[in-house]
Amino acid sequence: MSKKYNNSLVWFRRDLRDYDNTALFHALEESKYVFCIFIFDKEILDALKNKEDRRVEFIWESVKELKDSLRQKKSDLIVINDSALNAISKVIEEFKIEAIFTNRDYEPKAIKRDEEIKNLVLKRNIIFYDFKDQVVFEKDEILTALGNPYSVFSPYKNNYLKKLNQTTIPRFDIEPLIQNLAQFKSGPLLTLRDLGFQETNLHQIKIHTGMTGGKLLVEDFKERIALYKKTRDLPAIKGVSYLSVHLRFGTVSIRQLFRLALESFSEGAQSWLNELIWREFYFQILFHRPDVAFGKAFKKEYESIPFENNPNFFKAWAEGKTGYPIVDAAMNQINQTGFMHNRLRMITASFLVKDLLIDWRWGEAYFAEKLIDFDLSANNGGWQWAASTGCDAQPWFRIFNPITQSLRFDPHGKFIKKYIPELSNFSDDQIHTPWLSQNINKIDYPQPIVDHAKQRIKVLALYKSIKN
Ligand SMILES: Cc1cc2nc3c(=O)[nH]c(=O)nc-3n(C[C@H](O)[C@H](O)[C@H](O)COP(=O)(O)OP(=O)(O)OC[C@H]3O[C@@H](n4cnc5c(N)ncnc54)[C@H](O)[C@@H]3O)c2cc1C
Repeated sequence: MSKKYNNSLVWFRRDLRDYDNTALFHALEESKYVFCIFIFDKEILDALKNKEDRRVEFIWESVKELKDSLRQKKSDLIVINDSALNAISKVIEEFKIEAIFTNRDYEPKAIKRDEEIKNLVLKRNIIFYDFKDQVVFEKDEILTALGNPYSVFSPYKNNYLKKLNQTTIPRFDIEPLIQNLAQFKSGPLLTLRDLGFQETNLHQIKIHTGMTGGKLLVEDFKERIALYKKTRDLPAIKGVSYLSVHLRFGTVSIRQLFRLALESFSEGAQSWLNELIWREFYFQILFHRPDVAFGKAFKKEYESIPFENNPNFFKAWAEGKTGYPIVDAAMNQINQTGFMHNRLRMITASFLVKDLLIDWRWGEAYFAEKLIDFDLSANNGGWQWAASTGCDAQPWFRIFNPITQSLRFDPHGKFIKKYIPELSNFSDDQIHTPWLSQNINKIDYPQPIVDHAKQRIKVLALYKSIKN
């Protein structure tokens, strides 16, 4: 069959897999020879201050697996460390590329970068195709009856589910087309050190990278999906999927996960499907309101809350030294592993904003630096939810009590003890409020830096002053 293009380029970004990949599939269908590239973008990497970054290592390991996998198919992955513009300019010349295929990214900076590259290559008569791959529904695909984007989750979800039932989720089967991968050899993979980064504790904490890591987690979660609703809020239990980092870097296919949720007829699967839809809800918010990526509150009336912003409180929060065990254990988890359980993200975010009266943007930036699964849309959505400034957010007068949250979601302090071993001898009664026990004087653990009851009154007055 004749092909539209001789030589094409697939540009991998946050879709590091060579199965069920939309851009790769279309490139293989349309072209005789498909070359593949991944760019370690200097402009992004240079901006990372900490050179021991678990995300960079996760990407590096996943790129390595992708390169090995393409090599097994007698092709290769070109890997360049440069700005995207320079790297693409170089490769389109060298390989006489006629078309570029890539999967869409919805973050404002990425949209701008892609626009620049598209314009650059168009001048050389090279076509730039981008595809929906990260989500099932994007942009304007789920709108209200009046054609507006949703800002409340439930009606968005109802409409989403209606559409989902009418649509078959496509499968992009690469196997029958692999003969169209260009057979060539590219140089060896740059090392992490070549990129200016060092190894982290990724292997030690058993984070499995790449497509094989994603598959392992999917298989493991399949066995537990039915229990998800009952266990998802308990951080001491393996109740959630831990797939967020794989969704972030595309080492699993979102379509595969939707199929899994739809085919597992259980209460747990329904509840998990709900979370996958939250993910897309926040993507469409970011697409329609890109200003939220630049520090703007979704609800304009909450743009300038006069937070106290005490730097000592912020430091104590970040270092897990607030004296509230559930908050401190959660902050130790993010600092030591780059992951934090969803219930704990809600508790720590609420504590920072509504107990310590610190701007949600400070917490958002801290999570963005630490989270291995950092995704602008979900992180911004989560922080604005907790601060009551976001779409469909927690009402401003609803304030998590860190003690009752702790009692409810970590009743025996199992999670707390894992991340604060100093508290390992505290009983179920003492662990949530260690300051009430005499034993506190025997260990190295701080007194609470604030009194929740007093802070509650203060923050209510603060938000009320904005409402009036
Ligand atoms: C303050 C705050 C910050 C957050 N920052 C991020 C972030 O940077 N990146 C990120 O992926 N998630 C973020 N979340 C959402 C959620 O906490 C994580 O997606 C989840 O903890 C990841 O664990 P999991 O993969 O085991 O999730 P599961 O419970 O197994 O859920 C499956 C998937 O659904 C999606 N999902 C689940 N909950 C949410 C949610 N509330 N909003 C959007 N998507 C969701 C994720 O992609 C997740 O992998 C944040 C939540 C809060 C409250």
